[in-house]
Amino acid sequence: MEARLMSDAHTSPLWAPLAFIGGHWTRDVLLSIDASGNWETVEAGVACPAQARRLAGPVLPGVVNAHSHAFQRAFAGLTERRDSALDDFWSWRDRMYQVALRVSPEQLHAIARHLYAELLAGGFTHTCEFHYLHHDTDGRHYADQATMMQVLAAAAADVGMTLTMLPVLYERAGFAQTALREDQRRFATSVERVLSFRDTVRSWRLPHVTAGVAIHSLRAAHADSIRELVTAVRDDAAPIHIHVAEQVAEVEQCLAATGMRPVEWLVRSGWLDARWHLVHATHTTPDEVRSAAAAGAGVVLCPSTEANLGDGTCDLDGWLSSASALSVGTDSHITRAWPAELQLVEYGQRLVQRRRNVSADPERMSSTAHRLFQRFVAGGAAAAGWNNIGIQVGARADFVVLNTETDALLGVPDDFLLDALVFSGSADAFRETWMRGQRCHEPEDTRRAAREAMRRAMKEIWS
Ligand SMILES: [Zn+2]
Repeated sequence: MEARLMSDAHTSPLWAPLAFIGGHWTRDVLLSIDASGNWETVEAGVACPAQARRLAGPVLPGVVNAHSHAFQRAFAGLTERRDSALDDFWSWRDRMYQVALRVSPEQLHAIARHLYAELLAGGFTHTCEFHYLHHDTDGRHYADQATMMQVLAAAAADVGMTLTMLPVLYERAGFAQTALREDQRRFATSVERVLSFRDTVRSWRLPHVTAGVAIHSLRAAHADSIRELVTAVRDDAAPIHIHVAEQVAEVEQCLAATGMRPVEWLVRSGWLDARWHLVHATHTTPDEVRSAAAAGAGVVLCPSTEANLGDGTCDLDGWLSSASALSVGTDSHITRAWPAELQLVEYGQRLVQRRRNVSADPERMSSTAHRLFQRFVAGGAAAAGWNNIGIQVGARADFVVLNTETDALLGVPDDFLLDALVFSGSADAFRETWMRGQRCHEPEDTRRAAREAMRRAMKEIWS
């Protein structure tokens, strides 16, 4: 199942007229890639040598999509109607379960393959798959229990995407319930099963897939199980992701059940460290942000999904002024490009605070887009379980080449390219995507077949 688009490393050096390095644009950059697909040398201010391949535009590092439920791509845009007095996160979730109950392994392959191709086109070069759709539609195990994870790994390999697979601990319907609801039957796991899923993924030894673990949320896993999982992975450097404090009702239920708010509960457990990535962390107190950041935990924002579900806005000032790893995820996939997510992070704050360029730091980085991009690239690496990322020696040579001929970027001065990309439209902004030093290029016939498979899967699911 090796990703055929990245079968061997690029041998001749690359040259970029402009590359985004260390938070700013750098001119005339000569780049070489080692046999593992990592940057071997990065030299600025060098004229293009005859033997180098000249890249067709400015180069940006790839961005990690730190939170994905691939199957949810099947209903993006299909829950935007209200037929009762109230529509909120919880009614959306009921509708989402109805889709989750129908998706077959073949359909998941088609959906994920289509999604991962869209994400690559949207500037993402790695995806953290927060995966809980494990069992057959009747809740029984597949003959091979890892079937759905295999399908995701195959879909990623088909298009050149790389994954951090995060099998999810999912045990109960809420703080007051001991078991799952009937319509959550495909999600059921135990600590033992999560660890075995993680080990199964690792046993495949696929170059494009690594594995960590996830906990659905404090409401969906028993405290004793979380403790058992945390103990079992104490010597494992891989990431641990958890949904937390996405909804006000969840905070209230946690307070009623434990006397503590969700992030507070995690902080007081003493388990948080740099492996932990808190997904959403929307409803927090300043003290929760400070103490979670002090423990080393990162936070994964999912701006388009949080807006779509009416979650609320996070304490962006608090997280930005902390040292936390900050990453971004497309979650339910109503958008599939990172510029749209960065724009929404900032616009959410502008609408609430009635100010502009809230995310900028006038002392060090006056560009909102530069600052958010820097933080999300670095934080995404941590969420994926890597030590480094970006255009620097030793990091994976994953990058996109900007299309400066696209309408939104025509004539934009070099120093403002990223600002215009984020705030002035991103359609067709990425001319090429490169993974581990290899250009992703899908032959027209396989792309056509994949689109047909997506169309068929959608028809079957929605008929
Ligand atoms: Zn999620």
